[in-house]
Amino acid sequence: MTKTITEAKTNFGALRETREYKNYIDGKWVRSSSGKTFENRNPADREDLVGTFQESNADDLNAAVDAADRAFQSWRLVPAPKRAEYLYAVGAALKRDKEKVAREMAREMGKVLEETRGDVQEAIDMAFLMAGEGRRLFGVTTPSELPNKFNMAVRMPIGVAGLITPWNFPIAIPAWKTMPALVCGNTVVIKPASMTPLSVTMLAELFEEVGLPKGVFNVVTGGGREVGEPMIRHPRVPIISFTGSTEVGRDVSVGCAPQFKKVHLEMGGKNIIMVMDDADLDLAVDGALWGAFGTAGQRCTASSRIVAHRKIYDAFVEKLAARTKKMRVGNPLDPKVDMGPAISASQLKTVEKYVKIGREEGATVVTGGSALTDGDYAKGFFHQPTVFGDVKPDMRIAQEEIFGPVTAVMRCDSVEEAIAIGNGVKYGLSSSIYTRDVNKAFLAMRDMYTGIFYVNAPTIGAETHLPFGGTKQTGNGHREAGVAGIDVFSEWKSIYIDYSGSLQRAQIDTEEL
Ligand code: NAD
Repeated sequence: MTKTITEAKTNFGALRETREYKNYIDGKWVRSSSGKTFENRNPADREDLVGTFQESNADDLNAAVDAADRAFQSWRLVPAPKRAEYLYAVGAALKRDKEKVAREMAREMGKVLEETRGDVQEAIDMAFLMAGEGRRLFGVTTPSELPNKFNMAVRMPIGVAGLITPWNFPIAIPAWKTMPALVCGNTVVIKPASMTPLSVTMLAELFEEVGLPKGVFNVVTGGGREVGEPMIRHPRVPIISFTGSTEVGRDVSVGCAPQFKKVHLEMGGKNIIMVMDDADLDLAVDGALWGAFGTAGQRCTASSRIVAHRKIYDAFVEKLAARTKKMRVGNPLDPKVDMGPAISASQLKTVEKYVKIGREEGATVVTGGSALTDGDYAKGFFHQPTVFGDVKPDMRIAQEEIFGPVTAVMRCDSVEEAIAIGNGVKYGLSSSIYTRDVNKAFLAMRDMYTGIFYVNAPTIGAETHLPFGGTKQTGNGHREAGVAGIDVFSEWKSIYIDYSGSLQRAQIDTEEL
């Protein structure tokens, strides 16, 4: 990749080179026809310029779709086990480069290194899982209702897959979409979030390194309106897979409707931990801290609501507050730090806005409640981890996705009430219960209408071989990962082979048998 070198200071003050990164189209690194670039800066330290990226437009997107469409004609005919070998090679390359990629991601996204390593590991896991699928991609064979006739259903690729991804899992989510798309025989054009374009660019570098045929994987960076919308409208992109906010997801869905595109949406969440009166409280506090403040609360599955049984509410809140106060906020590359910054000034403003709303609604700030602006904090977008108590289920802080380090604790009198509160939001992504009572665990497992459910673990922590996604306004009926991911990126074709040598009519000639 050619690069333009400037100098920038890292968080630790050392000089490093800053590259101009390009789009990856048809196996080449190319500038946008707009002639414009945008900056990607470290949210923990705005003086740290991670890189400059192409501010692309519809022409760039069209060029990428042309390349992907051309490549599709041959890629779809490459045997799936052979396609899988490229995924395996990329998984191995990512494993080799895990630390480097994790460090760069910490700089561009702001979650602590331990978590960015997990993000890269998810991409590795997905690459290997889908490489295995290359030797499966199971279809169906089933008996015919007529003699001398053979029935089966096989998966077929769809075409150019348009992928639109958010900033909070900069490589895991792109991998969750790319790996199943490619193993099924589709080609890919991906538009990463403008706040974290480097991680996907690094993935493209690895695909280039392992020799993926040109045009099979293409990256176009730039804005949602400038690149995302033309992708949604493009007649030769028959499938769109989007992860992001419910508001933008709705626009994506509407944009895809006129052409009846296949559209897969993974959107917002307002997830709940239910803590029963028989729970191991220390375990529940461990889970609540990790669930609420991991990735500074910027996870679709973040434990942004907690409902605690009235009998243990005070003890639970006291323990949670004490542990929250001890959390160290700061530079995500510092191994002693527990929580990094918000991704942007506007995300920090949103957090502050909701803290104000929570106070005005009558909830109590048990701990936290302020942005951090002193000293080095002023260089980034930091906020204290914040626990609200005395929250009522209908308050806005208990209903709306904040996407920051804020959790809202409510009271309940029974598991039934906890479930009703849990289900009483417009989202349906993840939920969890802490209890030692198997009856309560099974009741909640049955009645929580969420796509993911945990027992004695927080609302975060999905594994790549199970379906991932949610109900209600979190999703549109599809799931990511596991075999569900294969379902998103393939179409069924049912095949009937009649070797009787005579006309046999289904449903009609069966009467004579
Ligand atoms: P966002 O909706 O603002 O942006 C997501 C992507 O859509 C970005 O790449 C953006 O550039 C693009 N985009 C924006 N406007 C567009 C348009 N008009 N047309 C096409 N594309 C457009 O979301 P975000 O702020 O990047 O991410 C945070 C959100 O993502 C949260 O709501 C979170 O819950 C959700 N999320 C959901 C999951 C899940 O699996 N359910 C996972 C991670 C994040």
